Amino acid sequence: MPLHRPLSAALGCLATAQVAAATCDFSVEVNDSMSFPIAEMVAGAHCETITVALEHSGQLPKETMGHNWTLARAADLQAIAIEGMGAGIENDYIKPDDPRVIAHTRIIGSGESDRISFSPAGLSTDEDYRFFCSFPGHWAVMTGRFVLQ
Ligand code: ZN
Repeated sequence: MPLHRPLSAALGCLATAQVAAATCDFSVEVNDSMSFPIAEMVAGAHCETITVALEHSGQLPKETMGHNWTLARAADLQAIAIEGMGAGIENDYIKPDDPRVIAHTRIIGSGESDRISFSPAGLSTDEDYRFFCSFPGHWAVMTGRFVLQ
């Protein structure tokens, strides 16, 4: 790496690693474990759009170790996940047009990636939001807090 790397880029990396400052763009890497690499995501209420890029760096296909990134109010998580199971993998384990789902990526497996963008305009800084994977059996443990500030 060049030594003259801009300071702003270095600070950007630091912020992502420590989940500190509010940001508009997230990169989330998942693998063959039922977990997200982060427990909390802090997004900026000022963002015009919030973007989440999900990447699967594991070996397993989506049929056995698929993951998505889904955002909802904490109170809606369980119902979304249970009804999503019935919707099947062809619907990315999300009931079609579920109004409780704020945003979600596709279910992805080994080597795949997906990206979504959404506006935080309808979200509240006082609400308790969660991100989670709606793959059957994953949602109970594969989840974290999503904070808008
Ligand atoms: Zn998953």
